[in-house]
Amino acid sequence: MSRRISVELAKRVKDLPPYLFAAIDRMKRDAIAKDVDLIDLSIGDPDIPTPEHIVQRMKKAVENPAHHRYPSYEGMLSFRQAVADWYKRRFHVSLDPKTEVLSLIGSKEGIGHIPLAFINPGDVALVPSPGYPVYPVAALFAGGRAHLMPLLRKNNFLPDLKAIPAGVIKKARLMFINYPNNPTSAVAGRGFYEDIINFAAKNNIIVCHDAAYSEIYYNNQKPLSFLQIPGAKDVGIEFHSLSKTYNMTGWRIGFAVGNEKVIAGLGKVKTNLDSGIFQAVQEAGLEALNTEEPVLEKIRNRYQERRDALYHGLKKIGLEVEKPKATFYLWVRAPKNFDSSGFVAHLLEKTGVLATPGSGFGAPGEGYVRFALTVPVKRIKEAVERIKRRI
Ligand SMILES: *Cc1c(COP(=O)(O)O)cnc(C)c1O
Repeated sequence: MSRRISVELAKRVKDLPPYLFAAIDRMKRDAIAKDVDLIDLSIGDPDIPTPEHIVQRMKKAVENPAHHRYPSYEGMLSFRQAVADWYKRRFHVSLDPKTEVLSLIGSKEGIGHIPLAFINPGDVALVPSPGYPVYPVAALFAGGRAHLMPLLRKNNFLPDLKAIPAGVIKKARLMFINYPNNPTSAVAGRGFYEDIINFAAKNNIIVCHDAAYSEIYYNNQKPLSFLQIPGAKDVGIEFHSLSKTYNMTGWRIGFAVGNEKVIAGLGKVKTNLDSGIFQAVQEAGLEALNTEEPVLEKIRNRYQERRDALYHGLKKIGLEVEKPKATFYLWVRAPKNFDSSGFVAHLLEKTGVLATPGSGFGAPGEGYVRFALTVPVKRIKEAVERIKRRI
C-alpha cells in the first residue's frame, strides 16, 4: 500500500489567477532551444551592473562579524537614517527614521505583506490594472478581494476614482497606486495625488504608493513623491526599492516610509515572519543611497538613449507608442489585427524579439505590449530593424 500522502493545495493557492506569462516562458524556452538570436525586451531587470562603490562597500561589510548575526526586523538605524537623509535631499520631506521608516527585503516583500496587517476576510483592496501582479495576489492571500481600477489611455493611465462603486468603497481598506507606472510608464502629477488623499481621507482607506521607478526619469523631469503632497502622511505610505535605481535587483533591499501607524502595522507582520535584511546588504544600501549624482545620471542617460532609439524606431514603423517620461518600459499598442498575446507570439516567431503581453498585467492591459529597455542600444536598433522588415 502506498504511504504517500495526498498533497492538497490550500484554497488561497488554488484560487491564484493563472500565470499569464507561462505561454510566453514556453515560447522563450523553445526559441532558445532552436538557437534563435533572441532579443529579450520582456524583463524588468536592469542589465547594467551595480555601481562599483556599492559592491566595494559590500565586500568590506561581509567581513564584519557583527553583521553575521540576526539583524533587527525594522532595519539598522543607520540605514533608516540614510533613507531619511535621502528623502530630505531628494523630496524635501522630513521623516523620523525610528517610526516612519521600515527596511524591506525588496519592496515586493512589503507590498506582499501589507494586506496581512490591514485586510480582514471580505475586505477589499483597490488595485490598478494593468499593474504589478503582486497587489491583487497579496490581497487574496490576506483573505481579501481585489477590486481592479482600470488604467486607460483616455484617463492618462490614472485610475478613475469616480468609477469605483459606492459598495466597493465601503469595503475598501487599502489602495495601491504606482507612479511612475509599470507597465504603462505614465507619471502622476500633484492634482492626482491630491484627489487620492481626499478620497482616502473621506473613505478611511490606507494608500500604498509604489514608487519603485521614482529615480528612472528623463530630461531631468523628476517624479514627485506621494509624501510631498500635504496630507499624504495622514493617509498612507510609500514603497521604495533600491533595485531599479541602483541596479540592485538581486540584493533584495527596499523600504517603506510614511504614516507611523501603517509602518508599525507592517512592521508587526514582519517581526512574525522574517528577520530582516542581511546587515552587510543594509550597509551597501546605505552606500547606495549616498551615490554621487553623476553616477546616477550616467545610468539615466543610458536608458534615455535606449528609450529614444526604441520610441522613435517603433513610431517610424507606424506603431502607436507612449513616450515615457519615466521608467524603463514602453507601452505599445498592438496593431489592429492582433491581441496582446498574438502580437507577442508574432514578434517572437518572425523577429526573435520578445515583449510582454499587456494582458498579463490585467484585462485592461489587453491590446498592448510592454517593451523593457534592459538591453544595449545596439540590440534595440537591431530589434527595430527586424520588426520593420516583418510587420
Ligand atoms: C520591480 C518592481 C517592484 C519590486 O522591486 P523589489 O526588487 O522587490 O524592490 C515593485 N513594484 C514595481 C511596480 C516593480 O516594477
